[in-house]
Amino acid sequence: MTQEPMYKRVLLKISGEALSGGTGFGINNDVLKDISLGIKELVESGVEIAVVVGGGNFWRGRTSEGMDRTTADYIGMLATVMNAMALQDSLESLDVPTRVQTGIEMNKVAEPYIRRRAVRHLEKGRVVIFGAGTGNPYFSTDTAAALRAAEMEAEVILLAKNVDAVYDKDPKVHPDAKKFTHLTYMEVINRELKVMDSTATSLCMDNNIVIKVFELSTENIIKVVYGENMGTIVE
Ligand code: UDP
Repeated sequence: MTQEPMYKRVLLKISGEALSGGTGFGINNDVLKDISLGIKELVESGVEIAVVVGGGNFWRGRTSEGMDRTTADYIGMLATVMNAMALQDSLESLDVPTRVQTGIEMNKVAEPYIRRRAVRHLEKGRVVIFGAGTGNPYFSTDTAAALRAAEMEAEVILLAKNVDAVYDKDPKVHPDAKKFTHLTYMEVINRELKVMDSTATSLCMDNNIVIKVFELSTENIIKVVYGENMGTIVE
């Protein structure tokens, strides 16, 4: 690519479901490789990349019936660490330097989250993968993405999903679903659109963090960072 990337520092949010490659469960190696190749290309063109991974491909706190909510949420956070480590392994097999930092300390497998250290890794060209969400129950990894984006002073959140944009209803169920190319934070909150949960959306609104929603693929991650319009922009 001849033109320059549009962003210097981005936060990429990868949902657990996207990692499962459409099956909804587990990690699909082809998807992992595909994402890693995209990240590698961007790192090599000088873009600093922080990643927040979800855990919904293994566990979601709110859907575990009958279990204490905080316990269920902690299990969910542990699930994100598995995804973080898998992504780290995949990136390092492509010679991309990485660090995993977790919101819950587990120093046998990852560094604890330390903001200044994470920023330093980014400046050195390392991909920083944030696991265990915010480290707190009752939050989501979308909120973790908004929080870490603010802390890292990332210019944008790239919300890679398994749909190509935000719709007014599920396009897989309703063929007449309306696609949005541009939304305000308030529209997302008031219309209860399934972009991010309201806590995460409010955090982005309060800190002026732009969200770009698009379908996860190597090609798309690169195109979005190079400024191509696709999917939905929330600002
Ligand atoms: N979680 C949490 N606090 C956080 C982030 C995540 O308690 O800061 C838990 C929560 O139970 C959530 C699960 O981890 O359901 C997995 O994360 P999420 O559902 O956000 O993953 P995604 O939908 O992006 O795959």
